[in-house]
Amino acid sequence: MLRSVNRELTVTFPVFMDDGSLRVFTGYRVQHNLARGPTKGGIRYHPQVSLSEIRALAMWMTWKCALVNIPYGGAKGGVQCDPRTMSDKELERLTRRYTTEIAILLGPESDIPAPDVYTNARIMGWIMDTYSMHKGYSVPGVVTGKPLSIGGSVGRADATGRGCVYVIAAAAQHLGLQLDGATVAVQGFGNAGTAAATILAAHGCTIVAVSDSRGGIFNPRGLDVAALLRHKQATGMVTGFPASEAIASEQALEVPCDILIPAALEQQITERNAPRLQTKLIAEAANGPTTPGADKILEDRGIFVLPDILANAGGVVVSYFEWVQNLQSLSWKEPQVHAQLQEIMEHSFHAVRAMAERERVSMRMAAQMLAIQRVAQATLDRGVYP
Ligand code: NAD
Repeated sequence: MLRSVNRELTVTFPVFMDDGSLRVFTGYRVQHNLARGPTKGGIRYHPQVSLSEIRALAMWMTWKCALVNIPYGGAKGGVQCDPRTMSDKELERLTRRYTTEIAILLGPESDIPAPDVYTNARIMGWIMDTYSMHKGYSVPGVVTGKPLSIGGSVGRADATGRGCVYVIAAAAQHLGLQLDGATVAVQGFGNAGTAAATILAAHGCTIVAVSDSRGGIFNPRGLDVAALLRHKQATGMVTGFPASEAIASEQALEVPCDILIPAALEQQITERNAPRLQTKLIAEAANGPTTPGADKILEDRGIFVLPDILANAGGVVVSYFEWVQNLQSLSWKEPQVHAQLQEIMEHSFHAVRAMAERERVSMRMAAQMLAIQRVAQATLDRGVYP
């Protein structure tokens, strides 16, 4: 039962472009497993979105939610499109129509989307509004990662990066690595990557390399992350940042550093570049950045890997906090969000490490074992209907 997805919906729908032409888009929403609760998972807008990718990411969400022990099953959605070439109005029409198409699956008790690659709080706001318009009343709990004004949670925007830093700090302590002064490279300077870089810099780390889809930059003496953020906002890319050397996007993975954070897309660390990585610790902020072949190489090389379902779970944990606040019509203060996130991330890290030591397996295998055990137990406890 766990090997295949429970439900999948493919939708094909028209959207008017600004020039009056009509374009047809394909989107998906996949629910992998419902044993532990409503399904939860992001929505991705990307030209390469495919059903098989969304299926895999939905399964990833099942394991991630189980690993950090929040009461959700896994889902994922996506639309094949290039949002970087679309206007705000086009994106809004696409989002509202896609939401309508998948609305038969959505709801605060059934399936709750969130942001993922190239989607953000504003898009989540349109999803919340569209769903609420259909219902005739406001339903903030149908989506997370919303703007604060309509039931978003403080601390959600940087939760993935912050959660990643909590487990990096726990791993660093385990490895005897001083965070203050440690060097860091980040591939992907979006939501997850910028937050992780900003918070690590505040912990005294030196960010030596950063890349995005257009290219990368390197400075062994360190990049000023706040200034780099402003540069990225102004120009749309990291390249061209003063006091840095231009490198290729994928080069950011191979520079010498203590901590490497892949925070872009899947399948970035492969059998080809894994032998060349020069790092002690990898924190997978992205989902599935390491191929199975590369994983074996990293294990043989003794590089400590914080697997994706642990390293980037902070996003879904604070999404869970947001949903809980929505259901109770409450709003928490930021220190409460951070403290509860830290507790869950550190507890999960230690549970995975204990499993890895007990079973003599890698951190990835241990995380997977813990997660699958929990979903399997829920499945057995529910029994088979009818
Ligand atoms: P995002 O769209 O905000 O950022 C993605 C970044 O990756 C962009 O800077 C983009 O330019 C860059 N990028 C794309 N292709 C690249 C390439 N080939 N080389 C280098 N950089 C490249 O997306 P995000 O939300 O930060 O998601 C990034 C990863 O983190 C994804 O794998 C996503 O599934 C995962 N993730 C995100 C969240 C979240 O809360 N946002 C939660 C869990 C996991």
